[in-house]
Amino acid sequence: MDRSELQIKPKGNCRWNLVGLGLVLAAAVGLVGPCRADSWQLFAQSRQAMGTAFTIYLYASDAGQAAAYFEAAFEEIERLDEALSNYRASSELSRINGLAAREPVVTDPEVLQLLERALDYSRRSDGAFDITVGPLMRAWGFFRGQGRYPAADELARARASVGWRHVALDAKARTVRFLVPGVELDLGAIGKGYAVDCVVALLREMGVKSALVDAGSSTIYAIGAPPGKPGWNVRVPQPGNRLQAISAVVLRDTSLSTSGSYEKFFRLNGRAYCHIMDPRTGQPVQAMLQTTVIAPQATDSDALSTAMFVMGPTAGRRLLKSVPGSGAFWVLGDPQSPRTAGWQWPGHDCGIERADCGRDTPAASQAASRWRKGTRNQR
Ligand code: ADP
Ligand code: MG
Repeated sequence: MDRSELQIKPKGNCRWNLVGLGLVLAAAVGLVGPCRADSWQLFAQSRQAMGTAFTIYLYASDAGQAAAYFEAAFEEIERLDEALSNYRASSELSRINGLAAREPVVTDPEVLQLLERALDYSRRSDGAFDITVGPLMRAWGFFRGQGRYPAADELARARASVGWRHVALDAKARTVRFLVPGVELDLGAIGKGYAVDCVVALLREMGVKSALVDAGSSTIYAIGAPPGKPGWNVRVPQPGNRLQAISAVVLRDTSLSTSGSYEKFFRLNGRAYCHIMDPRTGQPVQAMLQTTVIAPQATDSDALSTAMFVMGPTAGRRLLKSVPGSGAFWVLGDPQSPRTAGWQWPGHDCGIERADCGRDTPAASQAASRWRKGTRNQR
């Protein structure tokens, strides 16, 4: 397992910028002291899991205590990776994928609950969010690959197996059943968020009051705040450029997730095809560069950032309205002339009832112009 550990000890006036230290997160976490050198120290550790690098930053009284927190947290992440990965033949998810078209598969309550939650998002997003995208991911070459254009018959076969209505859950019997052959569940858009929530619960139980749990910068949860600060400063990166910020927020006891078209994509005949699918058309989503969602729980922000990517601002805000404490920020269009839209987003809110949501607003134009000029948007 690839591991890297970083311990940041307070010195002088306790000011650090983690970006400056080379700890560049996709959602560029800007962390600046001051902190209390006598009682709390900031520690950080990263490990590979779920196809990305999980990094945990936390304040603890000494290195021994921090090590105990890290050990418990990464063990929990590993447990969930082992259960939920569709890249591991031994996972519970792979077992379900292999058997559920033939017979109802009894699974454990935790996996069943997560599947229920995912299907609930499918229902509420009119199928924009759909964990049955597995066959589409394969057809478009994104499963263990960087993507390719599928043959027509291959795509047609994949589409026949995609659809959240093909999955029947029985809460009483605790079973999963696929109603058509070829269904393949893929938790890539919700599993990391769920893992972050589990780690957050665990760290809180262990007494951690201030931490940032980061799943490859695609989902981040902030527990409390750094000492003396109102919250954790998190910068949302410009699409395709992790070093430049397009927006900055302060998070406290909430989470933020980002989905981007540049994470995995291929180009063909001048067109870009990304790894986020519109399950209703069987095609990768076009003309969306990045979506970021804030929500009280990481499972929700993760699922919602993918749903918002597919739905766009106009349909998306209707779903967000049903999630208290949520907000979203979209970057749409093509990379040369991007537009931004926000809903319940700090400093960038077009208002839920406004018809112009998704079009340029003065704040959106300014943000896009800053982005085009490549200037840094730091707090
Ligand atoms: P990241 O993996 O970078 O965090 P997302 O959270 O947006 O990005 O998840 C993208 C992944 O979700 C894809 O790699 C795929 O596994 C899965 N996926 C793609 N399209 C959809 C969709 N419409 N609904 C649910 N899951 C999807
Ligand atoms: Mg997601």
